[in-house]
Parts: sequence; structure tokens; C-alpha cells
Amino acid sequence: MKGIVFDVKEFALNDGAGIRTTVFFKGCPLRCAWCHNPEGLDPKPELYVKQNGCLECGLCRKPCKHPECQPFGRCLHICPKNLVTVKGREWEASELADDLLRQRELLTSSGGGITLSGGEPLLQAGFACELLDLLNGKVHRAIETSGFADAQTFRDVISRCDFVYMDLKLADPEAHRKWTGVSNEKILENAAWLKKSGIPHTFRTPLIPGIVDTPENLAAIARIVGDDAWEQLPNNDLAPAKYKSVGREWRL
Ligand code: SF4
Ligand code: SF4
Repeated sequence: MKGIVFDVKEFALNDGAGIRTTVFFKGCPLRCAWCHNPEGLDPKPELYVKQNGCLECGLCRKPCKHPECQPFGRCLHICPKNLVTVKGREWEASELADDLLRQRELLTSSGGGITLSGGEPLLQAGFACELLDLLNGKVHRAIETSGFADAQTFRDVISRCDFVYMDLKLADPEAHRKWTGVSNEKILENAAWLKKSGIPHTFRTPLIPGIVDTPENLAAIARIVGDDAWEQLPNNDLAPAKYKSVGREWRL
């Protein structure tokens, strides 16, 4: 089965135990106002124009004849500063698994493995399941997820993982809808299942100032988490810079 991935990051040190290779799935059903991966939101491949260093020469806007450039309205090959790229590449699950397993020895000897991230891996559940099955027994498999999916999809993917990082952002349903674009009902149901599943996991909360890090919200999330592992992540100030590159507006 084919899926779309916007980055494969080797030697990742912050996406789980040991040295890891992180696979960034394209597409997310949420629209968190603070999202630090705007190039992962749209499920399709999209144009990404780095902003720093543009000479304003206009060369990339001139019509070209390369078939691969036509869907994006820019030439992908002419920029003298190499600023024009596409985020999102189609992979067969088997092709991606073979590529990831090239580093198997290094990952395993460091106590690390593969982490599925995004975007939202659950949005391409069939592709994620096939990839996780191909990696099964060969390398440690972790996932970073918003937890937003119907119960069966969540269980199908999560039960194939050796470790789960799941976000809990806002406990109040209205605040969740306001700042992420979706209700947290499915997320809370899936969190309840994860807590009882026996699958090793850690909940994560990004400390967005004035929105997520309020004492009321953190106290309510603490009640949901109970005795399970919980990480509070510092805010990422670098996020706004990437929005222009994909033609999106930073909302905060
Ligand atoms: S769930 Fe993650 S990837 Fe999706 S919009 Fe929120 S921060 Fe971005
Ligand atoms: S070709 Fe490169 S440097 Fe020239 S306008 Fe396009 S992005 Fe900027």
C-alpha cells in the first residue's frame, strides 16, 4: 500500500528512547494554532519555498516544461539558492520499511528504533499498519499521535506499536475545538482505552502560553492522566518561520 511522507529524519534524539529514525506522515485532521509542522497539514504533496535568502530573481516563476513542476506552478529545478522544493513523497510501505531497516543495527544497539510522527499517522492508518507489520520483530516501533481517530482505527494502529506518545492538549471540549479545530471527544475515549491497554505510553502536553499552560487546564489534564507518565513540552518559538514557506498564515 502507498502512503505520503513529508520527511524521514535520521539520528533523531527527541522522538523516543535511543537513536531513532522519525517518519513524518503527511496530513493532519487537526489545525492546532501553534502547530510547528505546517508542511505536514495538507495530505497531498505541496510546494515549499524557503524564505531566507531569496534573491527575488523570479526565475522559479517562469514557465518550464518539466512534467513534475506543472502541478505546483513553479520550476523546482532552477532556483540558484535551491529554495524551491516539494514536501510530500509517495512511498510503498515495503520500500519505506527496507529503507528504514538499513539503519537497523545502529538503531537497535542504541536502544532506539523507528518513530511514526507527522502530521498525524492515524490519518493514513492502512499504510501505517502495513509499515508497522513489516518492521515487527526487527526494530522498536514508536508513534507520536494526537489520538484523533475513530476507536477501531486507533486500536488497529496503536496495538502494533511498542511505545506511544499521545498528546493531551486541552481538557475543555469548547477550548479544544477553538484552538485545534476539532472536539476532543474521540481523543479522550482513545486515551481511556490506551490507559487500560497495557501498551507502554506517555501523554504529552505542549505548554502553549495562555492557552494550554493555564493552571485550570493543566489540573484537568492531570486528572485524565492519573498515575500514567506525562511530559509537559516547552513551546517551540521557531514554528512561525515555516508558515510562509507553505503559504499559510501564523494565527497566534
Ligand atoms: S496535531 Fe500535531 S501536526 Fe496536527 S495540527 Fe496539531 S500540532 Fe500540528
Ligand atoms: S528562483 Fe529562488 S531565489 Fe529566485 S525568486 Fe525563486 S525562490 Fe527566490
